[in-house]
Amino acid sequence: MMQAQLAQGQATAPLLAVCDVSVVFGGIIALNGVSFDMHKGKILGLIGPNGAGKTTLFNCLSRLYQPSKGDILLEGESILTRPAHKIAEIGIGRTFQNVALFPNLSVLDNVRVGAHSRTSGDIISDCLKLKKVRRTEAEINERVHEILDYLHLEDVAHTIVAGLPFGTQKRVELARALAAQPKILLLDEPAGGLNHEEVHVLGDLIRRIRDDRDVTVLLVEHHMGLVMSIADHVVALNFGKKLAEGTPAAVQSDPDVIKAYLGSKDQ
Ligand code: ATP
Repeated sequence: MMQAQLAQGQATAPLLAVCDVSVVFGGIIALNGVSFDMHKGKILGLIGPNGAGKTTLFNCLSRLYQPSKGDILLEGESILTRPAHKIAEIGIGRTFQNVALFPNLSVLDNVRVGAHSRTSGDIISDCLKLKKVRRTEAEINERVHEILDYLHLEDVAHTIVAGLPFGTQKRVELARALAAQPKILLLDEPAGGLNHEEVHVLGDLIRRIRDDRDVTVLLVEHHMGLVMSIADHVVALNFGKKLAEGTPAAVQSDPDVIKAYLGSKDQ
């Protein structure tokens, strides 16, 4: 009986749990006791009008901000003791709203940086080019080329990133994040700056990544059409508090959510 209960509990245990998280900047309460779970293999959409707290929460998940209160658990363990530059190692990958690549490096080198962020080589073995390092390098090269191929970036592999169209740069950023083999992929307004057709393609791509690569996705997005078409679960914030959560249809028709959006300049 106990074992059955345990097995049932494990089956429903969240991959990531946001527990009562608050963030205060000076006198401003940017997040106020927000809690929700992310389950493996699902796409979670995080929505809310301007100033709702989405970016603040995203920055807590990627360890750029330290919550004033609460905890964030990945597979039951707090991530709050990890510095921001170590989150790739524990399986959290992210993209940036305005693209944050190395503009003067090639696509290949940018993606290679992502792949290296998951390895834990030490400087001595790197300098001595030990067998272990050579093997790791070969594995990284293989992984990087597989991802470039997956995201149709092989043709521009040796192109300097700065000269590429914005939509392609966004795909390179996605490739860099995937190269670290994340368990959770945090996407910060991926549809920003894309046209209607590109948003449609992006939606298909995010779903494909989730299905093919066993990645759980958190999507912060203003583009309601994208969120509602691909998210399995939606969390709506307003004034730093959780306003509603549930299926896209349930959240979209929630009277509090409708009121919050009507009262804002969004949409
Ligand atoms: P948007 O959709 O406009 O990006 P958001 O939902 O991402 O909004 P946040 O950027 O998280 O909202 O902001 C939540 C609140 O916290 C706002 O009142 C904002 O002014 C405030 N805030 C955010 N970052 C800081 C900061 N670094 N210092 C002070 N206040 C901040």
